[in-house]
This record gives sequence, structure tokens and C-alpha cells, in this order.
Amino acid sequence: MSGPILPAATLGVLGSGQLGRMFAIAARRMGYRVHTYSPDRETPTGQVADREIYADYQDLAALTAFARAVDAITFEFENVPSTAIECVARHVPVRPRGEVLHIIQNRGREKTFLASNGFPTAVFIPVTTREELAAAIPRIGLPAMLKTAGYGYDGKGQALINALQDVNAAWSKIGGVEAILERFVDFQHEVSVIAARGWDGAFMHYGLIENRHCNGILDLSIPGLSLPGRLEAQALEITRGILEALDVIGVLCVEFFVTAEQELLVNELAPRPHNSGHFSFDACITSQFEQQVRTVCGLPMGSTQILRPCAMVNLLGELWQHGKPNWARACADPEVKLHLYGKREAHPGRKMGHITAFGSDRESAARRALAARATLLAAEA
Ligand code: AMP
Repeated sequence: MSGPILPAATLGVLGSGQLGRMFAIAARRMGYRVHTYSPDRETPTGQVADREIYADYQDLAALTAFARAVDAITFEFENVPSTAIECVARHVPVRPRGEVLHIIQNRGREKTFLASNGFPTAVFIPVTTREELAAAIPRIGLPAMLKTAGYGYDGKGQALINALQDVNAAWSKIGGVEAILERFVDFQHEVSVIAARGWDGAFMHYGLIENRHCNGILDLSIPGLSLPGRLEAQALEITRGILEALDVIGVLCVEFFVTAEQELLVNELAPRPHNSGHFSFDACITSQFEQQVRTVCGLPMGSTQILRPCAMVNLLGELWQHGKPNWARACADPEVKLHLYGKREAHPGRKMGHITAFGSDRESAARRALAARATLLAAEA
């Protein structure tokens, strides 16, 4: 690397959602300029960036102009086409490198990368036809999860198969596309580790985060989880190994299942800040977004220390069902921090914002976060 990219330089973000918004806030606070690129207008990232570029991911001329105007590029959206990354990488450094995105964009490639590098995953078989799916069932066993290889997030593109007669319905539900069939995991906990790796190989992490999901979507995250025996150290070692094997410069999240037999299985990778790390924005010396800025720019990383026990709950579109949520009520608790992403339309399941709450311990912080969210639905006094 020729030297760090210093404040006053311009950083480009491919994608324009809430992850880009929080990256842009962290970058601007440090004196960087931010340009965001996506096929949407008036976006969560665009509202706080210096420039919002509205163009298609296939538009190579617009991508080239975007790349020429910035000093480094990162992404906040996983489904940016490889051709777009290859195009911008001809002009400026892209961090993490495009190959990382390419691997994780397809569950088959992602799981094959993990398994072939000795990282533990649930047993899986790639399938491309209904016949291959039927043939895979006896090898995987039932129940099993059918997941589309591409474009799956928040539990979308998944079907649970409990019995042989579910096969046709499951295949239709995922749209009959390239997929993987995976053994159903009877997990005790879902946990994530968010970590960052610098250009010099330095590694930092935010510890173990306990995640609770609702309808396949993250609902509640509580950092500072301890796991018995060697499990905790193992989760951190696996995470470090994955960042090294992928040669990541940037932030990456590893989602794990902890099974009833106290075994760790890697479920998914996200080569960017992650929803389960949003607490770090308010609760850590260096948030996951600032760490992304620092690693992308080649600056030394900041401390990931959590200053106080905290918990985060997501605010989904359902909360708008009966009108505007009661923001003043949630803010009445002085230990609660409200984040809204500036999205104009609330749909069920859409991530509109989050709340981080503090407490004397993890559980009291979680209760406080849930209570603050519940007050959002209270009618005006
Ligand atoms: P994913 O999109 O793979 O992160 O899956 C979304 C959610 O579905 C996970 O957070 C789990 O709660 C559940 N899930 C995914 N894969 C499995 C599995 N193999 N066994 C049991 N539950 C799963």
C-alpha cells in the first residue's frame, strides 16, 4: 500500500442503504467526503453523503466516472454485480477486494469455500433441479432447509422441508433456481462475531454477540456473550481464520449456530458491517462503521472496547401499521438511543431503524431496549 488515505479524501460506497448511511456518518465525522452509487434516489446513504449518484450497476460509463472521483471504494450492499466491482477496481482500490464479494454472493460458493478451508458448516449439497433436490434429501436427512444460492437475505429465498411430500412446494417457493439443501440445525443460540482486518494483517473483533431472530429477521442483539469452555475462543479463531483465508481488508461478520451438542457451525458471512453490530455506533470506542473507514483508508484500527452493557432492537415497518410510532415516548428513557434510516415508506419486514439501550448488565439492557420499542406503539397521551 502506498500510504494511508487521509481525511479530506473522498470515499465511494456502492449501495445506498442504512449500512452506507452509518458508514457515511462515521466518515464525515472524520473529515472524509462520501459519494454513494446506486440505482435509487433520496436514499438513506444519499441523505448524508456529499454526493448521491443515481445510476444502474450495469452502467460502466457511470461507474467509471464514479470511480475516478473517489480515492477508495467499499460496498454496503452484497448484490453489487461482479462486473461493477471489476470496472471500478481498474481505477481505485476496492476494499474488501471484489473476490470476497464474489465468493459470498452465492451460498454454494460460500459454503464450499468454508468447507474446503476446514471451517465447520451444516452439511449441505448444491442443487440445480427438482430431481437433484429429491436425490439430495436422503443424503442430508429431514428436516432440511432449501436456500437459494443467490440474492437471499433476512430469511428470504428459504423453504423448510419436513417431509418428502414438501419437496415440490419448497422447490416452487424458492422459484426453482440454483440452491443449496442444508441440514436443519437444532441450535441453542445464534451468535455473530464482527471483526476487522487491516492492510498489515492486524485483527480486531467486537466479541461474541447473541442474536435473536423473528420470522428469519434479526430482532434483538446483545453483545458481550460468554460461551462455556473453548467455544468462545474457537469462534474468535474461526473468525480470524476466515478473514485471513479471504485476505479481507475491512470489516466482516461471521454468523454462527451453537448447537445443542455445543458445536459451532458457520451459517453465513457478510463482508461489511452487520446489523448485529449496530450497538457499536453508540457503545464502543470505535464503531464497526468507523473501523470500516479506518481499514478501507489504511489507518490504524481503533479500540473495539464496549463501554457499557447494551442491547439493540430493530424497528421494522410493522411498527408503522397504525400510524407514526410514538418517538417521544421511546426517547423518554434517557438510556435509549434512537436511530432512523430516513426511509420514506414502511413495509412489513423492512428495516426502518433501531434502538440501542444501556443497562447495568446485558439482560437489563435487553429489557430496556424491548420496553422502549413497545412504547412506540403507545397512543399519544
Ligand atoms: P440465513 O439467511 O441463512 O441467515 O437464515 C436466516 C435464519 O433462518 C437464520 O438466522 C436461522 O434462524 C434460520 N436458519 C437458517 N439456516 C438454518 C438451518 N440450517 N437450520 C435451522 N435454522 C436455520
